[in-house]
Amino acid sequence: MKIPQTGMDRDALFARMDELREKDADWRGGKTFSLMYNAGHDVEEVVDQAFMRLLHSNALSLSAFPSLRRLEAEVLSMGVGLLNGGPDAAGSTTSGGTESICMSVKTAREWARAERGVDRPQMIVPASAHPAFHKAAHYFQVEPVVTPLSGDFRADVDAIRDAITDRTILLVGSAPCFPTGVVDPITDIAALAAERGILCHVDACVGGYLLPWVERLGHPVPPFDFRVPGVTQMSADLHKYGFAAKGVSTVFYRTRALRRHQFFAYVDWPGGLYASPALAGARGGGPVAGAWAVLNYLGEEGFLRLTRDTMTATAKALAGIRAIDGLSVLGDPVASVYAFTCDGGGPYVLAEKLEQRGWLVDRQQLPPSLHQMLSPYHAQVIDRYLADLAECTADARRSPPATSGVAAMYGMLAALPDRGSARRVVLDILDSFDRL
Ligand SMILES: *Cc1c(COP(=O)(O)O)cnc(C)c1O
Repeated sequence: MKIPQTGMDRDALFARMDELREKDADWRGGKTFSLMYNAGHDVEEVVDQAFMRLLHSNALSLSAFPSLRRLEAEVLSMGVGLLNGGPDAAGSTTSGGTESICMSVKTAREWARAERGVDRPQMIVPASAHPAFHKAAHYFQVEPVVTPLSGDFRADVDAIRDAITDRTILLVGSAPCFPTGVVDPITDIAALAAERGILCHVDACVGGYLLPWVERLGHPVPPFDFRVPGVTQMSADLHKYGFAAKGVSTVFYRTRALRRHQFFAYVDWPGGLYASPALAGARGGGPVAGAWAVLNYLGEEGFLRLTRDTMTATAKALAGIRAIDGLSVLGDPVASVYAFTCDGGGPYVLAEKLEQRGWLVDRQQLPPSLHQMLSPYHAQVIDRYLADLAECTADARRSPPATSGVAAMYGMLAALPDRGSARRVVLDILDSFDRL
């Protein structure tokens, strides 16, 4: 494929794109349970229009785009307030949870070098923490020390305590963690961090713009935000339960002084004085504009209404799953993120049966399980889903564990004792995506 010699007709070009999009996941119909967060058509339209208003802009120079500066400052202010940051708390917008976490780890590294003279830093990451921490470790040369989970799938505080050394710069807890939706014992982890003079990151990528509403609706939510002493930094994704388009997250610090360790400046370049708060250089304003618009369009009432829909659907889903013979929910999920296992043929066979009926569920390992995150829109399809789930489960339990197909391949890779080979297989898959 080469750049065409003669430019393509506009209609033909868009027709080609639409044709390609036909096979994309049907998230608007509630058929997917991760990747997209569907708050309804009206919210989507607001994001579209706000995004387009600042699509052609560049956050690298907020003085050239004062509109963007204002929208970003307001987004950060709303976010830090929601997470109960005090008057000295400050944050940045980033391109996503991964960048927020990378920036937080880099900040911890700079802080520990400057304040404690640590030059071979370690951070303690519970097994359920998102791979973004391992990516950050890889990029910023901080050694990750993985600690096991307790029987309830939450981080094991004793194991964290035992893993602390004088090189430890950061403790991590998730609220909630992605795999099972349980909230780690943040109060204990943060207290331990404070006692040892270590920073503590709460990964609220999925929960940051969800748990505050869940709590206000009266559901039990363990303490997870800046109200907890010892929590020094948090990540919270606007492109998840903030219902913005992909490309926007927030990272917050308890103090401005701490955030300063995140910044970068180079003042000896012939091209001028250069400074940027996070990883990106040039950066479009669309994602932040979309996030600003949703926060203002929904307001507290809108978020509470959508969260009520999501939690109603979740209560139905969890009760439905617990009532189906052969299925069991892992741990005690606090909001709309949860996982379940299936006996007999197992969860991977069940996932295939669900896929045959158009439902896309994530496969997990350690233990083998299926993962779901519900959006407000799922309230409209949850009954249909549970009916299909009951039938597919009965079918999967009668089936032997798969010996071929996706289920078998996933099961094989997940169980392979040689993790180097598993790694090679997934890297090969990445390597194949640009083959036409
Ligand atoms: C989604 C998620 C991340 C990573 O965020 P991206 O936006 O995918 O980069 C990190 N932690 C948790 C708990 C998440 O759910």
